[in-house]
Amino acid sequence: TAETFDIIVVGAGMAGNAAALTLAKHGLKVLQLERGEYPGSKNVQGAILYADMLEALVANFRQDAPLERHLVEQRFWMMDDRSHTGLHYRSDDFNEERPNRYTIIRAQFDRWFSQKVREAGATVLCETTATELMQDANGKVVGVRTDRADGEIHAGAVVLAEGVNGLLGTRAGVRKRPTPDTVALAVKEMHFLPREVIEARFNLKGDEGLVIEAAGTISRGMTGMGFIYTNKECISLGIGCLVAHFTSTGETPYGLLDRFKRHPSVAPLIEGSEVKEYAAHLIPEGGFKAIPQLYGEGWVVVGDAAQLNNAMHREGSNLAMTSGRLAAEAIIQVKSRGAPMTATNLSIYKTMLDHSFVIRDLRKYKDMPALMHTYSRNFFLTYPELVSESMQNFLRVDGTPKAEKEKQSLNSFVKSRSWSGLLGDAVRLARAWR
Ligand code: FAD
Repeated sequence: TAETFDIIVVGAGMAGNAAALTLAKHGLKVLQLERGEYPGSKNVQGAILYADMLEALVANFRQDAPLERHLVEQRFWMMDDRSHTGLHYRSDDFNEERPNRYTIIRAQFDRWFSQKVREAGATVLCETTATELMQDANGKVVGVRTDRADGEIHAGAVVLAEGVNGLLGTRAGVRKRPTPDTVALAVKEMHFLPREVIEARFNLKGDEGLVIEAAGTISRGMTGMGFIYTNKECISLGIGCLVAHFTSTGETPYGLLDRFKRHPSVAPLIEGSEVKEYAAHLIPEGGFKAIPQLYGEGWVVVGDAAQLNNAMHREGSNLAMTSGRLAAEAIIQVKSRGAPMTATNLSIYKTMLDHSFVIRDLRKYKDMPALMHTYSRNFFLTYPELVSESMQNFLRVDGTPKAEKEKQSLNSFVKSRSWSGLLGDAVRLARAWR
């Protein structure tokens, strides 16, 4: 078509919606393209929503957003095949007027978010896939081609919010295809149960919610985590592991999920449930070192498409929303100066992102992915087994003197990892954590 927009946003997930909303609210002529039947139809998340990052976009979101439960408790489980050692935090302080974290269901949430984008004045086209970035003779991005018959659309700049696979940017050579050591494959199921059953099983009342993050032998020595999140009338349960590890071990996501569900700590929580949905999706896990070039001549890349995901803290949607908003604010600044959307001018997006928690957090953990990927058997198999064994030894009252028990536990660590191995792991972990 001959129609020209100020900005085209590719993708209507968390990052794309944040960008499109910010741009449209500022009066820019925005076209947003989404390949799904409706926004959210293709999207998968646990899902924990971080309120502050949404509040920066939709201040009064609590009035009408489809929220499930606000979180009052978090459990971390280190698991072996028959037990788990837990660290639980619960506080009534989380029963606050403006709760900080909620569970959501993305298919519903993204539709709501997209409605806000439309209300702000953006044109949102679903069932439309952007197939190619159009570039002028100097290589500047000037629009996109779509899979529609009259599908060439021109714009001053393009925001790539196309998620982890990001084929459009890859095809245009502006970013590399994610490699097996920078993405995890996660599978997830929704287990439906009556509301009161969920509340009784998890000790919740009203809209209180609880999440469990689980690591250990459930991932068979691969880098990966399981999760169990409570919604109003269903439990979302899943597990994800590094793609490179699936390839090298021959384990399957279905196999892992099945084992996780049958674990004696998990099975009673979902007993009698009806499984209604099954989904699989990639998660960017390469961290700081996998972040591609974030801007160029006429384009910026945001969210999962830019590998902006904090695997250590299981945060992704908040980084997506923040990067989408900051990219939009950068574009607005360039536009308000009447300047062209060149790489030099758009570089303020990176400056803004560098100063935000997004890059500061990812930089803090820059060595963590390599450590976890290289020593996955130690951290996800050996230590969880040793911790379980020690906990059981400690708790079993059998007449063995306590000093003897402590010695047994220490010996089992040393026998399994050796003194130098233990020291090496501790030093590597401390260094990567700094
Ligand atoms: P997406 O949400 O993936 O959106 C990309 C959109 O672009 C999609 O709608 C897609 O259909 C569209 N698209 C792609 N290509 C094209 C194209 N060529 N043309 C048109 N449209 C296109 N994060 C959290 O914060 N909390 C959690 O609890 C959490 N749990 C997770 C659990 C799982 C199992 C997974 C897989 C991820 C989880 N994440 C979590 C991460 C979070 O889901 C992502 O970080 C977030 O969705 C990224 O948003 P995005 O907008 O960048 O990408």
